[in-house]
Amino acid sequence: MFQIIRSKFDLKNVIREIKNANSRIGLVPTMGALHQGHLKLVKLAVDNYDVTIVTIFVNPIQFNNKEDLNSYPKTEKADVELLQTIGCNYVFIPEANEIYKNEPILNLDFGYLEHILEGKYRLGHFNGVGLIVMKLFGLIEPDGAFFGQKDLQQFRVISALVTDFELPIKLHLVPIIREQSGLAMSSRNRNLSVSDLEIASTIYANLKWAKGQLNNGVAIDIVTEEVLHKFMLTEGIGVEYFEIVDAQTLRLKSKVNAGDRLALCAAATVAGIRLIDNLIIDL
Ligand code: AMP
Repeated sequence: MFQIIRSKFDLKNVIREIKNANSRIGLVPTMGALHQGHLKLVKLAVDNYDVTIVTIFVNPIQFNNKEDLNSYPKTEKADVELLQTIGCNYVFIPEANEIYKNEPILNLDFGYLEHILEGKYRLGHFNGVGLIVMKLFGLIEPDGAFFGQKDLQQFRVISALVTDFELPIKLHLVPIIREQSGLAMSSRNRNLSVSDLEIASTIYANLKWAKGQLNNGVAIDIVTEEVLHKFMLTEGIGVEYFEIVDAQTLRLKSKVNAGDRLALCAAATVAGIRLIDNLIIDL
C-alpha cells in the first residue's frame, strides 16, 4: 500500500484508520531531493514500525537565507518513485499554504542551543524546525521518528521538545551516510559541480584528521586552530566554524578526559552552498 497525501484533512483520516488498526507509525520528516541518507532513515522506519510515513516539505520558516530556500532542489517525481520501491506506505507532500494556513504565534527558544554552532549562524532556524516538527508530530501522532546525525544539533533540539513536552515518541538517531569521497550526503550537494564536490570532501577529511590528532593526545585548542588553518589553505572553501564539543550537550570542550564522547562539528561554504558535517568520537 502506497499513497501520496497532500492535505491535512486527508492525512488526519489516514491517521485515524491506522490508529484504529492499532498499527505503530514510524515518521521520517524530510525536505525531499532524497538520497541514500534519507533512504537509510526510511528503511529503518520500515523495519521497525508497522506503517512508515515520510513527509516532504521544504519548510520556508526554517530558512534564514532566501537564496538557500529558492535554490533548494525539488525532485518530487523521483522521490516518490524511490519511496515506493523501499516499502514506505504514505508520503505527505503539502504546500506551504496548507501547512501555514494560520501564521504561527509561538516562537520557540531552545535556550543555550540557540547560541552555539548552527544556532549562532542561522538565526531563527531552530524555531522553524521546532514548529514544523511539532506540527508533524501533532498531525501524524507517530510512535517513533527518525532523524540523521548529520543534523546533530537538530536532533538535540527535537529531543528537547520530546523531553520538555513529555511527548510519547521514540526518537531514533541515524548515522551519517557518506559519498565514496567521504562527503556527507546532502540534498544541497546536487547544486555542486564535480570539482566543487571534490573540494567539499575536504570537510570530512579535516574531521578525520582532527580525530587522529585528538586520539594522539593533541590538545583541543591546538587541533581546532590547525583544522581552521587547513580549511583556510584549501582554495574554494570557506569555513564558518569548526568546533570540538561534548557529543551530548554540544557545549564547547576546552580539554578532554579519557572516556569522553566528543562531536567534531564543521560548517563550510563551497560555491555559495553551505554544508555541515560532524564526527562523533570516543576517547
Ligand atoms: P533534510 O531533507 O535535509 O531535512 O533531511 C531529512 C532527514 O534526513 C534529517 O533528519 C537529516 O538529518 C537526515 N539526513 C540528511 N542527510 C543525511 C545523511 N547523509 N545521512 C543520514 N541522514 C541524513
